[in-house]
Amino acid sequence: MKKTYLLSCLLLLVTGMQAQQKYDPKETEYYTPVPRIVNPGNLPGQPPSDAIILLGGNDLSEWVNDNDKAGPAEWLLEKGVMTVNKKTGDIRTKRNFTDFQLHLEYRIPENITGSGQARGNSGLFLASLQVKEGAGGYELQILDNYQNDTYVNGQAGSIYKQYPPLVNACKPPGQWQTYDVIWIAPRFNADGSLKTAATLTAFHNGVLVQNNALLKGDTPYTGPPAYRPHGPAPIKLQSHGDKSEPISFQNIWVREL
Ligand code: MG
Repeated sequence: MKKTYLLSCLLLLVTGMQAQQKYDPKETEYYTPVPRIVNPGNLPGQPPSDAIILLGGNDLSEWVNDNDKAGPAEWLLEKGVMTVNKKTGDIRTKRNFTDFQLHLEYRIPENITGSGQARGNSGLFLASLQVKEGAGGYELQILDNYQNDTYVNGQAGSIYKQYPPLVNACKPPGQWQTYDVIWIAPRFNADGSLKTAATLTAFHNGVLVQNNALLKGDTPYTGPPAYRPHGPAPIKLQSHGDKSEPISFQNIWVREL
């Protein structure tokens, strides 16, 4: 028994030495292409140097109304804080995106009322798609689920009606909260069929809530998810029709991948 063990050790040692002789460590090291230098920003909410700022100053110039006319976004803006205007509807970015990293901060009003889905409902649509039935796309839910229950695949951090968040990382109303997401858009074949599904990774207040989730399609309120072919698309923020007090946003930036 002891002999066999010693023999095995010796064999391992010899094999290891042979491997060391066979390979040069340099063979598994490479130097190009050199990753671009990006200044990561030091303060909370400060975007990295290569980010496109979607909301950070005193204008809504990156946004339009998400209707057919695509007029100016008419949400309220004060000192860099944008508040949903429930009368004017959803807003979407002027630019189109495919794959990206996105950072967003939102705040549920401290005096929020309502319950279930009717309490601070909004949403981050990773791609806004105009479909016959109205505004479509892929929604990462925004909702106040701090001590507020609803169907779990519709709570904050869920991919709406597809996947609940891995955990409930909601902060109490009145505090700023963050989403950091990595979105890889779906790809389609020339005949319109799905080539590769979309994936979403999301951190809510720094906590992983979606881990490379494979989307089953879009995220409708009614009916099963489905894929419809599309290319680069705007990002959308939802103005939900519930009666609760409107939520606010600040520091939204995106890095194209
Ligand atoms: Mg919503």
